[in-house]
Amino acid sequence: MLKRPLEDYLGYERDYPGFIEMVIRYENAVLPVCSHCGSADTAKVSAGIVSRSIHLASATTKFKLHPKPPGRFFCNTCEGYFSPEDCARPNWWDDLTESDQGE
Ligand SMILES: [Zn+2]
Repeated sequence: MLKRPLEDYLGYERDYPGFIEMVIRYENAVLPVCSHCGSADTAKVSAGIVSRSIHLASATTKFKLHPKPPGRFFCNTCEGYFSPEDCARPNWWDDLTESDQGE
């Protein structure tokens, strides 16, 4: 979900072309559901504290910053961190969920 209107980032887009497209890619991404509570309102976690990721985290709920991430994904519902490989899922699960993207 967008936290702020994309128009707010037009100035930033001028300095970092492609930024808005990246936000939209995150918005449309199919992320794994939370392994704690099953919520689909999850975010990809990144440790890279650079200007672009700070702006990305301010733009979409699907991107979360953490200096030492305890998991690869973050749940916006129960605020827990998790990694899909922590739960017992078959190997083909990630391929399946990723191929859902944009189709
Ligand atoms: Zn959760």
